[in-house]
Amino acid sequence: MTMVAEPPVSTFRRIDHFDAADAETRPGRQLELIRAAAEGFRTWFAGTGMPDWVGTFDLSTLPYPTRFGLFRAALSPSPFLTLTHRLMVVRWHEPDGRPRTLLFEPTDVELAKRTPYFARLSDRTPDMLERLLAQPRGDVPSHVRRIGLSLSDIDWITFDHLHTQDVRRWIGTTEPAADLSPRAPVEPLLPNAKLIVQRAELESLQNLHPLQLPWYQPHAYTDLRPDAVFAIEGSVLLGTGVALLSTPGHTLGNHTLVLNTETGIWASSENVIATECLTPESSRIPGVARWTRDWGQEIVLNANTIEDTARQYNSCVLEKSIVDRSRVDPRFVQFMPSSELTRSALSLGTSPTFTHSGIFHGVLTPRA
Ligand SMILES: [Zn+2]
Repeated sequence: MTMVAEPPVSTFRRIDHFDAADAETRPGRQLELIRAAAEGFRTWFAGTGMPDWVGTFDLSTLPYPTRFGLFRAALSPSPFLTLTHRLMVVRWHEPDGRPRTLLFEPTDVELAKRTPYFARLSDRTPDMLERLLAQPRGDVPSHVRRIGLSLSDIDWITFDHLHTQDVRRWIGTTEPAADLSPRAPVEPLLPNAKLIVQRAELESLQNLHPLQLPWYQPHAYTDLRPDAVFAIEGSVLLGTGVALLSTPGHTLGNHTLVLNTETGIWASSENVIATECLTPESSRIPGVARWTRDWGQEIVLNANTIEDTARQYNSCVLEKSIVDRSRVDPRFVQFMPSSELTRSALSLGTSPTFTHSGIFHGVLTPRA
């Protein structure tokens, strides 16, 4: 595959606070190193400043197996719980005043449905039930335009990882695509946007393991415009109070969006599906507090792919250790799941104790 652009190294500042932890292969020792490094990162990161604006927008609600989302902890008899998947828009400016806009989790909901796992689920689920369970809540271009930005204002897009994602319509291809544009390359809807992705995540796509296969759409990455793909390795500072921290485990190239805001530090990823999964002692979801107590575990993983379970656990502890407590309810932390557990009449015993519904910060100033 020819798809990886060589990133100009000076673009983003490397974050090295967790380098010792990343290099450690023994999971128990790695956990200690993560805890030891968290406070130093917090202090440094808060000192980098804040973005100008952060907004969050619903993209879809979807059914998701309870045994994945709440791993082994929930007692619910419902096979599926409900998640709300959301887009986050982050604006900051460079030292020279140029505005920068990042879309985090700009999922092309229509194309994501072709992910083998969801396609199979959809084949087995009667139409009516599927319509009840899976509902679109607005698409990426409409959300961007509604807040007064144009599609050409988007500089960067990124996802916590590439499960389900197909970005061909956002950043375009170099070859025709039989399903989208049979005669000419796919024209990018976000003409100036580059996909920021961990090199490890791109490399995974080239030789998927059976545990990974149900969740990826590798065909969507073979002909991406190479100058629209920006591979990074590890943790980087994107702008003032905006970082991507390497958090492997759920996938090899997983990363977490970290934001410094007027309410303190937030993190967002898919490593857990509800903030209470990071403080399960405060969860009222039947089974969750009890299970974590019985097993001496402090978090409940989102476990659809258990690619590297101990590493994912450690990444969740990293997320929990660097964020601030919620000002709305201090039993919970400022972790925003990119797909957040949502109350549903169809899913007994999985109602969240507390939801964030988004990260909102600052004042949006569209183009001058
Ligand atoms: Zn995933």
